[in-house]
Amino acid sequence: MDFAETDEHQLLRSTVFEIASSFGHSYFVDQARTGGKALELWSALSEAGFTGVNVIEPYGGAMGMVELAMVAEETAAAGCPLLMFLVSPAICGEILARHGTFEQQQRWLPGIGSGRQKMAFAITEPDAGSNSHNVATTATRRDGGWSLSGTKYYISGIDEAEHVLVVSRTGTDERTGRGQLTLFVVPTDAPGLSFTPIDVQIVSTEKQFTVYFDGVELSDDHRVGPEGGALRPLFEGLNPERIMSAAVLNGISRYALAKASAYATTREVWGVPIGTHQGLSHPLAKAAIDLELARLMTTKAAWCFDHGLDAGEASNMAKLAAADAALCSVDQAMQVHGGNGMSTEYGLATMWGMARLLKVAPVSREMILNYVATHTLGLPRSY
Ligand SMILES: Cc1cc2nc3c(=O)[nH]c(=O)nc-3n(C[C@H](O)[C@H](O)[C@H](O)COP(=O)(O)OP(=O)(O)OC[C@H]3O[C@@H](n4cnc5c(N)ncnc54)[C@H](O)[C@@H]3O)c2cc1C
Repeated sequence: MDFAETDEHQLLRSTVFEIASSFGHSYFVDQARTGGKALELWSALSEAGFTGVNVIEPYGGAMGMVELAMVAEETAAAGCPLLMFLVSPAICGEILARHGTFEQQQRWLPGIGSGRQKMAFAITEPDAGSNSHNVATTATRRDGGWSLSGTKYYISGIDEAEHVLVVSRTGTDERTGRGQLTLFVVPTDAPGLSFTPIDVQIVSTEKQFTVYFDGVELSDDHRVGPEGGALRPLFEGLNPERIMSAAVLNGISRYALAKASAYATTREVWGVPIGTHQGLSHPLAKAAIDLELARLMTTKAAWCFDHGLDAGEASNMAKLAAADAALCSVDQAMQVHGGNGMSTEYGLATMWGMARLLKVAPVSREMILNYVATHTLGLPRSY
């Protein structure tokens, strides 16, 4: 067992951090607050070949989730937490790489691998909530193709994506009543697709949307994976999404703890740096420990995924641990900054919403605990 990062990994980290730092948190906040999408940052990372490092080799990448997690963590550690990493290269890239046909991979993966195109992901619906078996967006066979109708909400970044990967219902299991799910790649300019923004209190460069599908016509080559059999492909995509959420959260923790340490070392109130007081240093030290534990589990999850092992347990645990660590880190960093913790200038309160979001999304803390209770501990299912 080897915990050392290779020279290539360290170079990947430092190069990504340098690029993202040249934009920095002020740029990120300014973009988020003025309706920007941080496209310059995305382009700079894409041109350097980093936004799709996990996508299979002929289509732009050659690495895996371990490396994509490094890219997302470093970008967030430089003050720019990007949700697009969770969606386009992680969920969509991995599902297409594993379940797309050769022709579909050739059509969509080069754009995702190079970062020149983005693919949003749409599973959440107002009435289904965390119960994905209950999605009501329905695809029906029509004229040799499909007609897609329904509503999704909280769909991140569909306004900057050329396509969206949609989880639809194509039937119902008569025994269980659960939906038989099928995946479709839908062009975002398809007739019948429209979206309206949802106003959220998060400083994020990806905007959120309610998306309406009103009889969107699709040919069968837009269907990814088997008809009615999307559960396996879906879970293979949701684990990368959890790993990337954890990576972004770990970057947020690093960002907050670096700021807290710098401030606690220089700010003097009673003639000594405030970091001298254990009331401040101990919670920061505890947050640093929690961060390292979360980073270890994130790496394990990514490694399991890259090695074709079951990554469900580790991905869920990493996401929960990273969310808890990031919320503690940001909160304690704000405490260390006193009143300045609330200022825009010090760039901490502006990170809190993103950390808080990732405690709920893409899978909530409670659904992770449900998973661990049943899968790890063998307890009876509560729902
Ligand atoms: C900013 C933002 C971006 C998002 N981006 C996307 C995106 O790009 N694509 C997409 O498809 N979705 C996206 N989402 C949706 C997100 O994934 C969901 O909000 C999340 O999965 C929770 O689902 P829900 O909101 O329906 O909550 P609900 O399922 O209604 O849950 C509400 C509460 O009940 C709890 N709960 C539910 N069931 C149980 C149970 N069995 N046991 C215990 N507790 C339970 C939950 O944990 C939660 O605390 C985004 C959301 C936000 C806010």
